[in-house]
Amino acid sequence: MKTVGILGGGQLARMMVLAGTPLGVRFIVLDPAPDACASQVAPMVNGGFADANALDEFAARADVATFDFENVPAESADSLLKRVPVFPNPRALGIAQDRLAEKTLFGELDIPVAPFAVVDNRVQLDEAIASVGTPCILKTRRLGYDGKGQFRLLSPADADAAWDALGAQASKVGLILEGFVEFERELSVVAVRDRHGEFRSWPVTENWHVDGVLSASLAPASVSDVLAEQATSHARKVADALDYVGVFALELFCRDGELLANEMAPRVHNSGHWTIEGAETSQFQNHLRAVLGLPLGATRMLGHACMLNWIGAMPAPEAVLAEPSGHWHDYGKAAREGRKVGHATLRADSAAELAAALERVGDSLDRAGQVAPVVERLRKL
Ligand code: ATP
Ligand code: MG
Ligand code: MG
Repeated sequence: MKTVGILGGGQLARMMVLAGTPLGVRFIVLDPAPDACASQVAPMVNGGFADANALDEFAARADVATFDFENVPAESADSLLKRVPVFPNPRALGIAQDRLAEKTLFGELDIPVAPFAVVDNRVQLDEAIASVGTPCILKTRRLGYDGKGQFRLLSPADADAAWDALGAQASKVGLILEGFVEFERELSVVAVRDRHGEFRSWPVTENWHVDGVLSASLAPASVSDVLAEQATSHARKVADALDYVGVFALELFCRDGELLANEMAPRVHNSGHWTIEGAETSQFQNHLRAVLGLPLGATRMLGHACMLNWIGAMPAPEAVLAEPSGHWHDYGKAAREGRKVGHATLRADSAAELAAALERVGDSLDRAGQVAPVVERLRKL
C-alpha cells in the first residue's frame, strides 16, 4: 500500500491516519510544530511548509500528497507537484485560500453569496460600507480560520475600529467586506469527488458556531428535499469547476429558505466529523480513497448524529461513554483557550433518542448551553 503525505499535522491529519490504517495506508506528516498531534500516530518531517529541505524530504517519502492545513503556500504545493501527485490540485487550493477568488467562482457558478467588496485601504472601506450596507463583517481574504481575522461592524461609525483592528493586514493578506447575513441556520455540505469525477456527498449538516468557532453539528439537517438538493448541487458544481479530488466542505447560510454560500474548505471538515461513526464511510476514509484512486465508499448515514466540539480543554469522558452510541475523540493536544482539543459524537436511531442523549450529556458535563440549540431543533422534528 502507498504512503500518503499530509501537509499539516493537526487533528484532521490524525483522524486521516486513524481512518487509513485499516486500509494498510502508510503516512508521513509535515508540520512546523515538533509536537503536532498527528505525530503521535504517524512519522513526521518537522519543518515549515515553505522550507525547501523539509518539502524535499517529505516528497521523497510520499507517493501522493494531501492537506490537513489549507493555508500551505500555493508555491509549495506547486513545487511538490513536480515530485508527487497532489490532491486537491494546487489551483483548487489557491482559490479556496482566497475569499475573493472563492466568492468570484461561486458567482460564476450562479451560487448566491452575500454582497461583498474588496478593501485595500481606508477610503475603500468607507466605499465598501456604503455599497454593502451594515451590519457587515470585515475579514482577511487569506489565512483566517475559526473566525479569526474578522471584525463585525454594526454601523458606519464602526469603520475606524474595524480599520484599527485589521487595517495593517490589508497589504499582507488583503481584506474583504461582506454583508452580515441574518441567517436562520448554517448548513454545510461535505462531499467527495474522485479522480474520475465521481461525486458523492453526505447528508446536509446543520452547524452552530459560538464566537466564530464550530460548537455543534447535527446530521441530517432538517431541511426540505428541495433545499438539500440545491445545497448538494452547489457543492457538485464547485467540485466539477475545480476538478477537485478529495473531500471538501461548502459552508452555507440559509435565510428565508434561500441558500447563500459562505466559504469552502479544501479539506476534510469539522462539520463532517460525525461521519466517523454516523455514516457508512467516513469523510476521512473517503478522502484517502479519492486521493489514492480507490473506489469511494457509500456516504449514507446511520440514524441521527450530533457532534459536539471540545474547545479549550477536554471534559471528563464518562458521560459520553455511558451513552449507548457515545463516541469520544481526544486529539492528544495540550489544553489552550479557544483551541479545538477533541470532540464527541452521539448517534441514535431516532431524533427523540438523540435529543434525550444530548440532554443527559449536557447536564452531566454542565454544558446544557452547548446542546440546547440542537435539542430544540430535534424536538421540532
Ligand atoms: P472556519 O473555521 O469555518 O474556516 P473562518 O474563520 O474561515 O472559519 P467564516 O466561516 O467566514 O470564518 O466565519 C465564521 C462564522 O462566523 C460563520 O460560520 C458564521 O457563523 C459567522 N459569519 C461569518 N460570515 C458571516 C456573514 N457574512 N454573515 C453572518 N455570519 C457570518
Ligand atoms: Mg474558513
Ligand atoms: Mg467557515
